[in-house]
Amino acid sequence: MLWPGAWRSHPRCFAFLSRASQIELVVVGPEQPLADGLTDVLLSHNINCYGPTQAAAQLEASKSFAKDFMAKHGIPTARYATFSNADQATAFIDHADFPALVVKASGLAAGKGVVVAKDRAEAKDAARTMLDGRFGEASSSVVIEELLSGPEVSILAFCDGDSAVLMPPAQDHKRQLDGDLGPNTGGMGAYAPVPFVSQEVLDTIHETVFLRVLEGMKAAGTPYHGTLYAGLMLTQEGPRVLEFNCRFGDPETQARPDGSLPGGSLPNYAQLRAQGQLQPDGHQNQHRKAAACVVMASKGYPEAYPKGLPIVGLDANHQLNEETIIFHAGTAVQNKQLVTSGGRVLSVTACADDLEVACQQAYNGIVNIDFEGAQYRRDIAGQVIRRAKA
Ligand code: ATP
Repeated sequence: MLWPGAWRSHPRCFAFLSRASQIELVVVGPEQPLADGLTDVLLSHNINCYGPTQAAAQLEASKSFAKDFMAKHGIPTARYATFSNADQATAFIDHADFPALVVKASGLAAGKGVVVAKDRAEAKDAARTMLDGRFGEASSSVVIEELLSGPEVSILAFCDGDSAVLMPPAQDHKRQLDGDLGPNTGGMGAYAPVPFVSQEVLDTIHETVFLRVLEGMKAAGTPYHGTLYAGLMLTQEGPRVLEFNCRFGDPETQARPDGSLPGGSLPNYAQLRAQGQLQPDGHQNQHRKAAACVVMASKGYPEAYPKGLPIVGLDANHQLNEETIIFHAGTAVQNKQLVTSGGRVLSVTACADDLEVACQQAYNGIVNIDFEGAQYRRDIAGQVIRRAKA
């Protein structure tokens, strides 16, 4: 593991170390290194790398780029306009022929740059505040979008420039509290697959979203390689793209039923990609099982939270059983003691043939783990499980 951020100040040194350490594959995880062009640096040094180039990663790094790209290639999304002038933005909100109530900073704002306003006044206020520099350069322009409604799903696909292999659809729980109350977070839990996403809808998304992105990117001379994550709203008029992430999204990636990765695992995938053997049919048929992921967060998250609190019930290498996995996110080891070091501390994922059983197992796992002020939602996948029983 190379130290985070090392590549930015010393890209050649980073590439040299990757080669010297005989690293076979670099998976570029977070959005900022992708937007800054780490993939380009590594590829230019012939290091096998999984993740889009800087040009292709604009799909996430610039919402105005993504919206214009979708408009150009007929990818279904909310109607929108982009502004860098506050007076023009507020005039648009007053006169748009659709409810233009969603205001988004165009650049990367760590998931905090979106305001779904309750009325025009709040939307105008959000646009002004952002354009006045609330998120610095990231909000020097804003996208103002039509307000859509419907359930949300996240679909991730492995892309090799030409074809996209979809992972089973997942649903995130963005709000902090049970019943989808409280502020938005980075995600408090997820499950997959999502029972109300039919094969027909998946086929439509594969064709009208993923394949159109790949065709458009290839035509622009910036073919898309890596994971593409589409956040979608299933509206009455059909699926609409809310956002793209150019990486594995979290916690959706943790909620992966067994066998839902092409070829079984990411390294295998990378090999398949190198050999040009990515299945072009778009779907894997192995995902009979379900998975549920419950996130355990620090007290105070998503606002300020304490760090360094001892975690009891597991150690750094502990796994619960074959089907229940702990993912460490904000943890550290201090004096041989596992402690908290982030807002979302860890998550517990369980796989089973049935979603309800997977949920029970994940919660069975989490009750044994504790730290002061730990919070987690008790209703991950609760709605769909109740609906299935009704
Ligand atoms: P993330 O934190 O996942 O990276 P983001 O900051 O890039 O998200 P979006 O995914 O575009 O922002 O929007 C965040 C949330 O705002 C969505 O999950 C959705 O609940 C809501 N949202 C975004 N666009 C719309 C829209 N056009 N209509 C209704 N709700 C929307």
